Order: sequence, then C-alpha cells, then structure tokens
Amino acid sequence: MLELRCRPRIRPIAAADSPRRRSRPVLTFVFGQAQLDGPGAVVSTYRLRSEFYGLPGDEGVLVERTIKECVHELGHSFGLVHCDYYDCVMHATSTVDEVDVRGAVFCGHCASALEGKGWS
Ligand SMILES: [Zn+2]
Ligand SMILES: [Zn+2]
Repeated sequence: MLELRCRPRIRPIAAADSPRRRSRPVLTFVFGQAQLDGPGAVVSTYRLRSEFYGLPGDEGVLVERTIKECVHELGHSFGLVHCDYYDCVMHATSTVDEVDVRGAVFCGHCASALEGKGWS
C-alpha cells in the first residue's frame, strides 16, 4: 500500500555530489532535496559514503543512511517540515554523524500528520 502511494514520488538516487546553489551560504551541499508537498525528490549517496570522509567503505552504513534520507525526503514530498525531535527521521541534519544519530522512522507527531494526509 505504502509503496504504491509513494511510487510517483520516487526519483533516481544520484551517485554524484549535490552542491546546493543559490541557497543559504551555510549550506554548501545537501544529502537530498524535495519539493514540499510536491512530486519531486532526489537523494545523493555521494556524501553518505564513508569513503568520502577517508574511512573504509561500509555498505551497511551506506544503505542505512540512504534509507533515512529517502524516507526524510519522501516526508517532505508529503508536506512534512523539519521536526524538533532529534530521533525523528524528519529532524534536519547537515552531517553524516547527525544522519547516523537520527532515527529512521517518523515520530508520533509526524506519523499523525501523514495519517491525516491518507498515509497508512
Ligand atoms: Zn529536510
Ligand atoms: Zn517528527
């Protein structure tokens, strides 16, 4: 059920870097970007890879980070904004360490908001 509703919003995952242009100067890149309550979203794995930071590659870590970013961007595409709860997948992050700490699921507040939009 969830997969069918999300399918039109899923876009290819980019392996290339996603430098952020014409945005706030403190953000020089993003892990992903989505249209708020819109159909488009993209996630880049470029800076989610441990190798980018000089560490040994770890596919498990990469998959976990990528899933969190995809769920986060899908949340935006369904109209959710950033959440104050650090363990909620909708919490804003700007480093992979923050992505690792952030949870992979929606908090109760965000889950309720999605249910209000017809997500189940
Ligand atoms: Zn976000
Ligand atoms: Zn939340």
